[in-house]
Formats: sequence, C-alpha cells, structure tokens
Amino acid sequence: MLATIIIKPGRVELREIKTPGPSRGEILVKIKAALTCGTDLKAFKRGHPMIPMPGVFGHEFSGIVAGVGKGVKGFKEGEEIMAVHSAPCLECRYCKKRLYNLCERIMDTKVLGAFAEYILLPPHIVRQNVFHKPKNLTFEEAAFLEPLSCVVHSIESLNYIKKGGYAFVIGAGPIGLLHLLLLKEKGAEVAVTDIHNEKLKIARELDADFVFKPEKTEEKLIHPRTPLVKGGWGDFIGFDYIFECTGRPEVWESSVNYARRGGTVVLFGGCKSGTTVTYDTGKLHYDEITLKGVFHFTPSDVKKAYNLLREGKINVSRLISGSYPLRRAQKAFDKLSKGMGIKYAIIP
Ligand SMILES: [Zn+2]
Ligand SMILES: [Zn+2]
Repeated sequence: MLATIIIKPGRVELREIKTPGPSRGEILVKIKAALTCGTDLKAFKRGHPMIPMPGVFGHEFSGIVAGVGKGVKGFKEGEEIMAVHSAPCLECRYCKKRLYNLCERIMDTKVLGAFAEYILLPPHIVRQNVFHKPKNLTFEEAAFLEPLSCVVHSIESLNYIKKGGYAFVIGAGPIGLLHLLLLKEKGAEVAVTDIHNEKLKIARELDADFVFKPEKTEEKLIHPRTPLVKGGWGDFIGFDYIFECTGRPEVWESSVNYARRGGTVVLFGGCKSGTTVTYDTGKLHYDEITLKGVFHFTPSDVKKAYNLLREGKINVSRLISGSYPLRRAQKAFDKLSKGMGIKYAIIP
C-alpha cells in the first residue's frame, strides 16, 4: 500500500509499504479521508516527541472496513466506520481511577499512519473507540471524531458551562474553532481572537459573537472590569471561561488577564517541551482563578463527540479548507505552515 512517511521536519514522502493483515481482534480500515491536525503540523515544522521520524503519521480518519480479525464483534467487511487512534488499557493505576485520558499506556499504544491507503486498528481500540459512520456524515466530517473528542474533553471538564455564559477562545485554528462550535451549541456567548484575518472571518461565519485581532496592548484590550461591548454584553465583568488554543507560553500567561473573578482558564494548547510560565500570584489568589490543563480524551468523550456529529449538532464542514491526494500531502503542510487554511483532507 502507499503511505506518507514523515522523513524529518519539513519533508514528507510517499512510499510503498507492506499492507498489514488483521490479527485476532484487529480491524484493517481502508482510509477514505484523513485530516491534518495541529500535532501533525508541529511535527512537520519542528518535530514532535509523540511522532517518531522517519515514520507514518496522521491520526484523524474514517474509512471502510477492509478486513476483520478473528473474534471481532460488531463490525463486518465493507462497513463504513469512524474511529479515534487511541484507547485506554483499562488496567493501569490511572484507568483504575477512571482517569482514562491519563492512562499510562494510551500514548504508547496509539496508532499513527492515517495518511495512507490502510490503517490497522488494534483490539483495545476496536473494543472501545470504533463506530459505524452514519450516512448523513461525509467521510471528511466523520474524520473529525478525534479532534472533537479532545474538545469535548476540554469543555466537559468544566461541567458548569451554561446558557449566556461568557467564553473566550484564544486562537482560531481547528481546535479553537471546534471550541467555538461546541460553546455556541451550549448557548455561551463567545469571543474569539487570532492573528489571521482569514481565521477570524471563519469564526464570524460560525457565529462567534465577537472577533478581534490581538493588539500590542493585549492585556488592556479586555480587562475583567471593563465591559467588552456596550449594550449586548451589559453584565460582562470578564470571561467565565477562557480556552487557550495556541500553545504559546506567553499566551498561557496573558490568558488569565481576561478571566473574571472566579473564572477558569483552560490550557489546551500544548507548548514546546521544557518551556515555563510565570503568573501573578495575587491575581490567581484574590481573584480565585482556576488554571486547568486538559489532555486527550476518554471513551465517554468520544461517545459524546460521536453523538454530536451524528445528530448534526456540530457542523464541522466549514473547517475543511480543501483536499489533496496522498501524493500531494506535503502541499497541505506547506500551506498550513504559512498559516493558510484550517484543516486539509488527505484522500488516498
Ligand atoms: Zn488530532
Ligand atoms: Zn490505563
């Protein structure tokens, strides 16, 4: 089969590799659509500890069951499926505490290689995180299951988002925009900021209540005690929740300035390893700010994401900026590196 290999940062190649056969409990999936993701882009730009090179990559996909190992229940050859690329072991100390996203083995047992003709799903994923694709979703839309699961995990971790709450999404890349879609679905008022006009335009189309570019005086632009908008947001005293979706330490730091007293800052964007941040202790203490890291997702987040897509509650199609055949995957990453587009579909 043909597979896209990331050789080193900045270079991908299409190569012929052996098509794996499904062993006991496994499913071989013929990929119909795979999506580029921020993690892939980080790997392409600077390397990534979770993506060994040279190696196959790509982890957001949907497709058709092309082979089924012995003992697989619920899936047959020819069925259309959508899945995520990881699942917890259910046996480690974190799984025993039901902190499934923090499973000790979840990262070591994940599968990569969706930018290829086929991908093999191991038994623990088949048992927990594979679903039949409903007809109302295209393969491209179905491939959003993984990133949407991450965003469900981020937003569900707060469990108090209510109608009329004020949310601020920093960074309007794919993850920021998925936050916007889900927050609007929950009835929140949402402001979005990004350095790219094109992305803000999309945020606006997706119903963001307020979009703006960060200024040099970013800290002063929205101060907790300064109303953001005259009229509509009359009761605004700062954001109830802020979602940091850029993965830049300086933005992690400035995020807290937008929180109202008692507000929560969700730190979604992963920064370069080894970086550190500094916070004003007085602000965190007297304003009772919660800083919350979020990572990955649990099987229950995946189910919720699946239902959101299946029921048409989240329309993700606007986030696909175009598609490329496998042999032109590099082009998609070159564009993303220049800040062009949100996500690209790679079609074998
Ligand atoms: Zn992803
Ligand atoms: Zn585990």
